[in-house]
Amino acid sequence: MTTTSRPHFTVLVVDDIPDNLHLLTRELTAEGYETRGVLTGTMALTVARSTPIDLILLDIMLPDMDGYSVCQQLKADPATASIPVIFLSALDEALDKARAFAVGGVDYITKPFKAVELLARVNTHLSLQKAQKQLQRFNQELEYQVQQRTRELGAANRSLQAEIQVRRQVEQELRNSEFRYRLIADHMGDLVCLHDVNGQFLYVSPSAQTLLGYAPDVLLGKQIADFCHPDDGPHVQLQFQTPHQSYEAITLCYRFRCQSGRYLWLETLAKPVLGEDGQVTNIVTNSRDVTRRVKIEKQLRYDSLHDALTHLPNRDWLAKRLELEILQCQRYSHNCFGLLMIDLDRFKAVNDSLGHLTGDKLLVAVANLLKGCVRDIDMVARWGGDEFVIFLDRIADLKEAIQVAERIKTALESPIEVDGKIIFTSASIGILIGNSGYTTSNDIFRDVDIALYRAKASGRNRYEIFGLEMYQEAIALLNLENDLRQAIQRQDFVTYFQPVMALPSRALIGFEALVRWQHWERGLIMPSEFIDLAEDTGLIKAIGSQVLYQVCEAIHQWEAAYALNNTFRVSVNVSGQQFRDTTFIATLDQILAATGVRGDRLKLEITERVLLEQSDSIAKTLAAITARGMQLSIDDFGTGYSSLRYLSQFAVQTLKIDRSFVSQIQPQRQGIVQAIVDLAHNLEMDCIAEGVETEAQLDQLQQIGCEAAQGYLFSQPLSLDAASTLLQHSSPRWVDRN
Ligand code: C2E
Ligand code: MG
Ligand code: MG
Repeated sequence: MTTTSRPHFTVLVVDDIPDNLHLLTRELTAEGYETRGVLTGTMALTVARSTPIDLILLDIMLPDMDGYSVCQQLKADPATASIPVIFLSALDEALDKARAFAVGGVDYITKPFKAVELLARVNTHLSLQKAQKQLQRFNQELEYQVQQRTRELGAANRSLQAEIQVRRQVEQELRNSEFRYRLIADHMGDLVCLHDVNGQFLYVSPSAQTLLGYAPDVLLGKQIADFCHPDDGPHVQLQFQTPHQSYEAITLCYRFRCQSGRYLWLETLAKPVLGEDGQVTNIVTNSRDVTRRVKIEKQLRYDSLHDALTHLPNRDWLAKRLELEILQCQRYSHNCFGLLMIDLDRFKAVNDSLGHLTGDKLLVAVANLLKGCVRDIDMVARWGGDEFVIFLDRIADLKEAIQVAERIKTALESPIEVDGKIIFTSASIGILIGNSGYTTSNDIFRDVDIALYRAKASGRNRYEIFGLEMYQEAIALLNLENDLRQAIQRQDFVTYFQPVMALPSRALIGFEALVRWQHWERGLIMPSEFIDLAEDTGLIKAIGSQVLYQVCEAIHQWEAAYALNNTFRVSVNVSGQQFRDTTFIATLDQILAATGVRGDRLKLEITERVLLEQSDSIAKTLAAITARGMQLSIDDFGTGYSSLRYLSQFAVQTLKIDRSFVSQIQPQRQGIVQAIVDLAHNLEMDCIAEGVETEAQLDQLQQIGCEAAQGYLFSQPLSLDAASTLLQHSSPRWVDRN
């Protein structure tokens, strides 16, 4: 064995005999060991504790203590416990081998020893020691590694446990949320679906069953368009592309076929679902049943544009169509259209006599009749009340519009049967030809209304075509209205008196009071020029009061000047508006009181139409009139819408035969006049014939038995002064001159 290959070991030699010590250390040093030599046990312990020692050769017999004690102490000290101890003993010394091993020795050598044996044992134990140390180190390392791994595993285990705990929580939350979502999906009314980008159903919420009658599976794999109403399908298909093309949500409204075959209106919100790459992967839809809403909306739209009674387009729709037409005309100036405004003549009389229900049915019948007079492209609209407007699309000229008006007139000539009643009606028609000059529908309506007004004013049952002169007339009418208002303020009205003569005596029995307007510029204006306007504007009430006042003042004067016969009466024309006015009787009383005239000096002339109304207030007014001793007379009898029923109901004393009948009267052909007189007598009334101009007419009237007459044959209406003079010179039977 060479010293170079030996590892570096330090051997402590303990022997109290210096020679031995020397011998041993020499041998060992020669062998390559490092050595320390000490002579006592105490020194041995000190060196072993302070120096790294790999092996101790320990003599048993030492001066201060024996080798066993040294060994025992070495083994007791952890710092030295692992150093192998080989006991040295002389042959003559009693070596207690058992004790040597018991205190921790690893071997023993007896002196004198052979160097080879010594070295071999030392070597062996050092190797052993080294191996043990290595093993120990290895074990320690292993232990350390095991501990390390155990710690790591413990940590990993703990984090795994924590992770498991978190996962369990997440799973529980997921389960809860899944439960909640399922609860919502199962019970929500809306239909929630997932589609691929082509519209195919991939998921369908359970609500499909209650909403549409389909089990969700039935829809899977199919397209929305497969269930759409044929009219909506292409639009829905096209719209469905939008979310994945524009990445935006869209709302669709369409009809969806249910399992029963019925269609529901669905409102669907379609939203794109984006994948991780930002591309649209799916479309999610949320649909709800909006059938009721759509129906209501449709109805509202319909109602907003239609007349509820006749179902014709209403004023608004007509105005919209006209506005559109105006734009067309402005663009293509050769375009022209026609407008007819139609007003049923005396419709109010139908309403009053036959009731509103019959009136309504008549309007519906007329609406249908009008539709039959025009082309499909034209529009018949209800303007309101008994007025209709017909829009004639693209007509060549005025002639076409006139043809339609003629057609309507002819159609209305045949009586209309409503509820088993035969009703004769006619219409006044205003015609207008529209052109690029118009900029608003209001202007058009204004002008056609002017033409209609003209048709009505010219005697009804006719048409008038709007022209510029009409517009000017309308302006003139407006001015007249302003003048009329001023005239009322200025009290510019004067009453004329037309004598009423008894037949056959031709004695004066009274007057009819007839108003005239003393215009500050135009002079005397006749009622025909302003009464209609006064009626239309309501000004007739004020005019009527002024006339009544003037009449009563005149009677008061006449009573003072001439002792009038008790039967002397002045007839006063009372318009329907005055009569309907709830303050009428109060006004009358006031005037009678102010002038001191008795009511039985007056006879009120009203037209048939007023009595036809049959309202409570009219009945009250009639009763009040009778209570004040006034008489009632029906003016222009037979020209209005006659219903004989009312005649026997009210206390009417006189029927006035209209001038139009009197003028037609001929020998042997008394016709209507005879009928009126007979009727009056049967109902215990008397008759006054109006507008008697010839002796022949008077003769006929006398023959028939008519009690009284007025007309140019006797006298024109007279001024107050002239009437007074006439009274003065009248027969003494009528006027008491004392
Ligand atoms: P009315 O009540 O039927 O009056 C008769 C009209 O015939 C009067 O016209 C009278 O002047 C006219 N007349 C009388 N005799 C003859 C005749 O022999 N030949 C012809 N061609 N005509 C004759 P006037 O005064 O122009 O009145 C027209 C209408 O105006 C009246 O018709 C009446 O409805 C209305 N009116 C007149 N004064 C008043 C009034 O004070 N109040 C109301 N509400 N209406 C009035
Ligand atoms: Mg009259
Ligand atoms: Mg009359």
